[in-house]
Amino acid sequence: MATLSVSHSAEMATCVICHVPLSAHQARTGKLCHRADCRWQYSLLQKKNQVCRVCASPLSIQEWTLGLCISPDCRRFAVVEQAREYHERRVQQEQKLWEQAGQLRQQVLNRFGVGEPDAFQLAVIPAAVHRISRLPARRRREFRDYLKPLIDRAVALSAVSVIEPDPTMESASMQETRLSAASGNACACCQGSCCRGGAYTHAYLGVETLQRYVAEHPDQQPDQILAAYLRYIGKETCEGSCVYQQADGCSLPREMRATICNDFYCGGLREFWAKVPATGPVRGFFVATTNDEICRAALVDEEQMLMMSAPPAPGD
Ligand code: SF4
Ligand code: SF4
Ligand SMILES: [Zn+2]
Ligand SMILES: [Zn+2]
Repeated sequence: MATLSVSHSAEMATCVICHVPLSAHQARTGKLCHRADCRWQYSLLQKKNQVCRVCASPLSIQEWTLGLCISPDCRRFAVVEQAREYHERRVQQEQKLWEQAGQLRQQVLNRFGVGEPDAFQLAVIPAAVHRISRLPARRRREFRDYLKPLIDRAVALSAVSVIEPDPTMESASMQETRLSAASGNACACCQGSCCRGGAYTHAYLGVETLQRYVAEHPDQQPDQILAAYLRYIGKETCEGSCVYQQADGCSLPREMRATICNDFYCGGLREFWAKVPATGPVRGFFVATTNDEICRAALVDEEQMLMMSAPPAPGD
């Protein structure tokens, strides 16, 4: 039971059972008069959870389900409490997950005889859990119907405007290249959790991306551009995700993707970026999770990645 931290009115306090006025001392120390019968009835209500969990007043039948009286103060207090408890639970779950991830990293690196686990920066990222299935003809048709007028617009616009290059395609520093390579491996471990949004945004393709493609392929006609984009759609895709998402990642070449596909990185990856040293090799241990459970892990260094699809439980 919550403490009686909410009082509803400045009126004279009365016994919540028999409603006789309470003495100043009784009002200060509780909600009941001196009668034994009132105390007995009230303790019965408490046992049956029929008192407000905030102010402890007896509840009407309609209020039993929520365990709250009708007072706006009690409702507000309960909502704040619920949010605080939810936040605390999330923090605890995240801490537990990070501990498990750390144990797993230790265990894997022990197997490889790496004595210093921090040499591989720990990162917790999402995990997509997909079923691979045949792409329905309807979805292919919808995608083509979306793309065709977009290409016509891009061709018309490109005839009159100058196309800015995609900033994500500009030359990168050595460290950026290393980070980008490690992140690519992390995304392969995650298997494209963020690509689910591509299902209802048609791979995030907009007129700017198509204009960029037109500028890079001035010799191609609209039907050739459409064919080029359709060519990369596989017969099978990850169910409920972008048409280009396949078991081994995105099938669309980087230079044909929307800018957001090339420059979006989730919170887990950005956190990883912030922790790796500003120079030198980029090494990571990526733990992909869903519903607070570890699904996959990947050990990544400069040149290679070791993926564990069913990581052994910590302590094995
Ligand atoms: S950016 Fe994050 S969510 Fe998206 S594929 Fe990579 S790891 Fe997964
Ligand atoms: S085009 Fe590729 S990167 Fe972009 S949403 Fe689709 S699968 Fe993901
Ligand atoms: Zn009483
Ligand atoms: Zn109440």
